[in-house]
Amino acid sequence: MNLVLFGPPGAGKGTQAKILQEKRGLPQLSTGDMLRAEIAAGSPLGRQVEDILAKGNLVPDATVIDIIANRYDRPDCAKGAVFDGFPRTIAQAEALDAMLAARAKKIDIVVELKVDEAILLSRVEQRIKEGTARADDNPETVKNRLQVYRNQTAPLLDYYGKQGKIVTVDGMAPIADVTGAIASALDSRG
Ligand code: AMP
Repeated sequence: MNLVLFGPPGAGKGTQAKILQEKRGLPQLSTGDMLRAEIAAGSPLGRQVEDILAKGNLVPDATVIDIIANRYDRPDCAKGAVFDGFPRTIAQAEALDAMLAARAKKIDIVVELKVDEAILLSRVEQRIKEGTARADDNPETVKNRLQVYRNQTAPLLDYYGKQGKIVTVDGMAPIADVTGAIASALDSRG
């Protein structure tokens, strides 16, 4: 099963992707994590994207499409994967569909984590207080990330809606309830 976890930054995609990885053996393919790993390693790609992540803008489509295709071809994705933070633009979604089609696969379901955006900012402030904030977790950057989400990523709801693939889950519910709602959606479809 190939699944996209969809929602604005801070909606809990990473948390749920890790749970799905553990419970269903579907690897979490997080482009954000992959890019941060490149930055941490000081690779040429990392140096190229560092500033873009710091500002909360999107790295070029071709870059993320390339890293996702490489990652997806590793053997642990044979039974599918959880796409977390990818796709983020229509061009990325089209490239993902084409990449999967070329491998006789497809996106089976898109889980939309619906959240109240005002509360997302307060979650970030909480992470800053707790000292668990990421480098791009400051109120300025988060505001930009939300703006980028609205402009470039939210249109994907229409793209996947037309394919009849979206299941909406209340992302404001407690983590275990969100996990349960996703599990029911997957079991009824898969
Ligand atoms: P995330 O961890 O998913 O919130 O991603 C952190 C940052 O990495 C984003 O703000 C972007 O700068 C970059 N990024 C991650 N995934 C993508 C993507 N699919 N397309 C473009 N940029 C991305």
